[in-house]
Amino acid sequence: MTILTDTLGTEPADRVALRDHTVAVGLYLGGAWRPVAEGPTFEVVNPSTGQVIARVADGSAADALAALDAAAAAQEAWRDVPPRERANLFHAAHRILLDRADAIVETMTLESGKPLAEARGEFQLSADFFLWYAEQIAHLHGTYAEGSRGGYRIVTTHQPVGPSLLITPWNFPLLMIARKAGAALGAGCTVVVKSAKETPLTCALFVEVLHDAGFPPGVVNLVHTTHSAEVSAAVMADARLRKVSFTGSTGVGSTLLKQAAPGIVNASMELGGDGPFVVLDDADVELAARQAIVCKFRNAGQACVAANRIIVHEAVADEFTRRFVELTRALTVGDGFAPGVDVGPIISAKQRDGVARLVAALGEIDSELLTGGSPVEGEGFFFEPTVFKVNDRDNDVCNQELFAPIATIYTVGSTAEAVRVANDTSYGLAAYVFTQNLSRAIAVSERLDSGMVGINRGIMADPAAAFGGVKSSGLGREGGHDAIYEFLEPKYLAITVDESTGLE
Ligand code: NAD
Repeated sequence: MTILTDTLGTEPADRVALRDHTVAVGLYLGGAWRPVAEGPTFEVVNPSTGQVIARVADGSAADALAALDAAAAAQEAWRDVPPRERANLFHAAHRILLDRADAIVETMTLESGKPLAEARGEFQLSADFFLWYAEQIAHLHGTYAEGSRGGYRIVTTHQPVGPSLLITPWNFPLLMIARKAGAALGAGCTVVVKSAKETPLTCALFVEVLHDAGFPPGVVNLVHTTHSAEVSAAVMADARLRKVSFTGSTGVGSTLLKQAAPGIVNASMELGGDGPFVVLDDADVELAARQAIVCKFRNAGQACVAANRIIVHEAVADEFTRRFVELTRALTVGDGFAPGVDVGPIISAKQRDGVARLVAALGEIDSELLTGGSPVEGEGFFFEPTVFKVNDRDNDVCNQELFAPIATIYTVGSTAEAVRVANDTSYGLAAYVFTQNLSRAIAVSERLDSGMVGINRGIMADPAAAFGGVKSSGLGREGGHDAIYEFLEPKYLAITVDESTGLE
């Protein structure tokens, strides 16, 4: 294949030059990058400047089915690769990933806008997740038991579910693909990855790492597209697909579950969240305020685990609010490449307009705007970190995932009320509780309807932890000991044993 470097002239090219590196912009099917000139393309925009930084192949439903052809053809051989050999490929990929850290980090900042320090943090966590799965591959075990009434033995083993569709969002462009692909490939499943149209370049760099590490053709396939609904529907309807792993909004997750139903396709769903952030009357207020800042404004609030409703006991509400607003005002908003920037842009102009509408809606209920509230003038899609004190909880705008740099603070009169308010949501992903009393922390955590609880901390993603939600926030877990089993089916072998044999 001729490798051309796109200077964003008139001719489509197979690689785009970004800062000091280049990125493949074609679809990756059956072990090769398909020349971009063979199909339509779409533009990738840097949200800090509004400038087009790349043109990427725009895959169709037929392309996604070609990716599934490749994944299905490679499945049997991939499943038979011995664990040690598969783990060796993972370790090779991990080394290449670390070698390319700067290129990947800069690409994340270019296409998602997140500040370099956040992109570095995401890179490190993603590499750690990949390493976690690499270490797990050679240690997957089944069970052995005696039949209840004797006469046979029960051996439980695990087999890969089969070809899997991995659909990722734009807000954590590397972490989401590393976490999903690590588990799927580690389990012995082949994959079709559908990137998010806002951040296809980070996905491409990740897939290139796997290619260069020697993952066999067809084991990993990558489709970029602006026609997600059509592309996913075609793959979901194909009987060869055995698993879908999705991270994104609850609405799209629900659509995919409906598509999974006819063929009983195995599904893991990491969906939206409502992050209740509870500060009790005996909390370390300074710690709570600082952690709330990170939990709320990381990724400009565009995180599923972000503090969505900050629920503070009235005894510390004034002190907490004063400090939180002070810290919010000290945040620097700007291009993620500029030194000292804390908060990057909103992902698109459309999304930024949505943030402005949310602010207007919050302004119309019984609330007080304490800081921020406006888009930032000039190039890019920036919005001021915004804080509202909200007095009226029974309003639709208080019952949705904000997914924006908008903090809402609610005051409650007791711990029981804090728990009631925290649970008054259809979501159940991450919750947070701040108290200096350990028994209370545990008692409250046990009553919060969520898949994860941060106790006196606002960040908790870790490769060794099971990440996921309950209620409308999802099904299944990513990370931790059990995550790889999301891509494995248990198989029970009943083995007849004549207990007297050999004992005569
Ligand atoms: P989204 O649901 O719009 O998009 C996510 C992915 O789904 C993208 O790749 C998109 O192209 C694709 N998609 C869109 N419509 C589709 C369809 N009809 N069929 C198949 N695929 C489709 O979400 P988003 O705006 O990219 O991300 C934000 C949402 O993701 C938020 O709700 C956030 O909470 C959630 N999220 C959850 C987690 C988690 O681990 N629970 C992590 C990150 C983001």
